Amino acid sequence: MADIRRKVTILGATGSIGISTLEVIRLNQSAFNVFALTANSNVEKMLEQCLATKPRFAVMRNDEAAAKLRELLKQNQNLGTEVLSGDAGLSHVASHGDVDDVVAAIVGGAGLKPTMAAVEAGKKILLANKESLVMSGRLFMEAVVKNEATLLPVDSEHNAIFQCLANGASSHASGVRKIMLTGSGGPFLRRSLESFVDVTPTEACAHPNWSMGQKISVDSATMMNKGLELIEARWLFDVSPDQIEFVVHPQSVVHSMVEYNDGAVVAQMGQPDMRTPIAHTLAWPERIDSGVPALDFMAMSKLEFEAADLVRFPCLLLARRAAEGPQSYAIALNAANEIAVQAFLDELIGFADIPIVNETVLDDTADAEPATIDEVLTIDAGARKSALRLIEQIKCERDRPGRRENA
Ligand code: NAD
Ligand code: MG
Repeated sequence: MADIRRKVTILGATGSIGISTLEVIRLNQSAFNVFALTANSNVEKMLEQCLATKPRFAVMRNDEAAAKLRELLKQNQNLGTEVLSGDAGLSHVASHGDVDDVVAAIVGGAGLKPTMAAVEAGKKILLANKESLVMSGRLFMEAVVKNEATLLPVDSEHNAIFQCLANGASSHASGVRKIMLTGSGGPFLRRSLESFVDVTPTEACAHPNWSMGQKISVDSATMMNKGLELIEARWLFDVSPDQIEFVVHPQSVVHSMVEYNDGAVVAQMGQPDMRTPIAHTLAWPERIDSGVPALDFMAMSKLEFEAADLVRFPCLLLARRAAEGPQSYAIALNAANEIAVQAFLDELIGFADIPIVNETVLDDTADAEPATIDEVLTIDAGARKSALRLIEQIKCERDRPGRRENA
């Protein structure tokens, strides 16, 4: 009998979103079949996932990791899994003719090319990798239309907005006045501003409500994540940035809201668990079990909402500037942020240096509207270089003996 299950490629399978996706698929094995899994270099996790799901392809971005996986899989030839590597391997499994759904869950700008490969092949794309849309904006959305791809947001706020817009009805047609993008405020919502210079990577990654990869955890602590989400929402729902408002909501129960012209506000609620939006996008327009328990309203104490503090979280302002400016601003801000976050995680710069690096690179960015993805990547590479140079300067400044004595 023909296999009618949808064949799924998971780009970034070994990460937080990838693992949650595999959990949802495991609960719904009669509807979904894993076609391909990809990762950067985590061979152990990839081997474990291959043994559990028997995919047709496993792709390691890193060549050495691919060779290692191939060796390990030799002892399990009955799996029938072929190992590929590099960018070519990622794009191959994102655009393969047999694939139905592509979960875009690579972190950062590295996700742009494989996600675009899926778009150009007209796939159903479950988008977690917000950075790819932030970087390419209009080009990405035009490619979705041109190639008749289906784009569904996995990011919890955007998934919520999509649901509040009656399954993706156009925001113009449906009389939307405002989109309220909620965010918990991260681990440092109440921490004294003076002590931001002492924040450690461990503290920054300890999100109060969500368990996520390191990069997005740091982005939540600076609220750059909410800023990237503003740019993401602007493209996904075709609204102007000034129609999107940040709302701090520490409990992460309301995942975002849409306010209509007639005064009605529609909110989407649920546990802070990414398996819900993942299941929603996998099954859309149907509903499936995600393994997430329902909200218990009787056990809930209160839901709080407050304005975002733009002094505490300057990255929000930078993102608004980028959202309102030419595409080159969003590319540069995203690139600088990726480099700054990695430098912070590597303990080369402090937490409070992240917005400084981001702002300086943004200030130096020329106005440009790239016409191709290659042009996007050229602007991206330039901004990364500037950010790295700046980080070197910050390090030299910090290591100067006089400076240390004064500190
Ligand atoms: P993660 O760090 O846990 O996982 C990232 C995955 O990408 C891993 O499988 C890794 O092997 C792969 N990867 C990393 N660098 C790569 C490279 N250069 N080339 C190819 N593959 C590479 O990240 P995550 O938390 O799962 O986030 C993934 C994406 O989803 C991000 O864009 C993030 O903003 C978005 N997102 C995550 C969450 C969440 O709850 N984790 C929520 C909303 C959106
Ligand atoms: Mg989000």
